[in-house]
Amino acid sequence: MRNAEISFDDMTASAVVVVSDLIRDGRPVIGLAFDSIGRYGHGGLLRERFIPRLLAASPDDYADERGGIDPRRAWSVLMRNEKSGGHGERPGAVGLIDAALWDLTARVEQKPLWAVLAERFGTTATRSVAVYASGGHYRGDDDLAALNSEIRACLDAGHRRFKLKIAGAPLDQDRRRIEAALKLIDGDRLAVDATAGLDEETAPSWFEALQPYRLAWIEEPVDPLDFDLHRALASAFAVPIATGENLFSAADTRNLLRYGGLRPDRDWLQMDVSLSYGVEGYRRILAQAERHGFAAQRFLPHAGHLFALQVVAGLALGGHETAADPAALISGFPVGITLREGAVMMDDEPGVGLDRLPRMADVFAPLLP
Ligand SMILES: [Mg+2]
Repeated sequence: MRNAEISFDDMTASAVVVVSDLIRDGRPVIGLAFDSIGRYGHGGLLRERFIPRLLAASPDDYADERGGIDPRRAWSVLMRNEKSGGHGERPGAVGLIDAALWDLTARVEQKPLWAVLAERFGTTATRSVAVYASGGHYRGDDDLAALNSEIRACLDAGHRRFKLKIAGAPLDQDRRRIEAALKLIDGDRLAVDATAGLDEETAPSWFEALQPYRLAWIEEPVDPLDFDLHRALASAFAVPIATGENLFSAADTRNLLRYGGLRPDRDWLQMDVSLSYGVEGYRRILAQAERHGFAAQRFLPHAGHLFALQVVAGLALGGHETAADPAALISGFPVGITLREGAVMMDDEPGVGLDRLPRMADVFAPLLP
């Protein structure tokens, strides 16, 4: 499958297992993490730099008061000798180790990660998380029929919101796709994602053409770093804009919010937790957003992985993206986390829950101690 910008055929990913020396039921307590989607694996950075740096540090540098590992202190160790700026692939590597350490922490405490995050950061967790199904990729000749059955399957599964890809085809073809979707779902529950496929020349006419559909949002209309073009679109069109999945730092978020003209009453921020230095990086992004008037509820983190879901629930963010394709490695919820009427109800199982997804358990099996 593909979107306006990339095909996923050659996509790679990294999996990380942190093994502790705490033994329970004869086995070490471990923490698991798996990459986000849309960027490639981070094996080089992990093996060459970040894993050796953490292993070489003194435990005094990352221990918590009970002799466990404090993920926030470990994060500071990971970021030693790293310069400002140039965020690129580095945040995704750090984010993986951060995610594995939070999973470990939650398993040590025998609590779900959402509850641990709410405790640590003093938030009121959201046990019922609003979700939307993300799909509608281009799939070849039977595109409209495939789109139709994909949306029907999502509605049957309990979804009430759907997002489809645009800007990878001529405008007329995308209008047919949007109109096919609108036969099954109202405009305010349908979002479109241009995956940066439009530009200065094309974006205004596409916005003009899409405006009458009253869509939930138009996502990543143009290059994510063209802040002035975001500002021009936001000032000319009322339709909500969602963006941020390809900004990986608080510094980039600051520039977007300073210069991108986004509106705190309607626009959505989609920075990806795993690709943005993990929980610690995300807290800095949230603080930056708050300074610019954007509440935590304006965040809909990119990707659709379970780690993001736990963070959305624990930090009470606005909602969660889920991968619509049931065959996708990261799609679905563990038994116990249930989807109904467009929301998932979190459960009380310890950790993030990656190993409770059968396909993920297969990925991790060869890595386990
Ligand atoms: Mg997107």
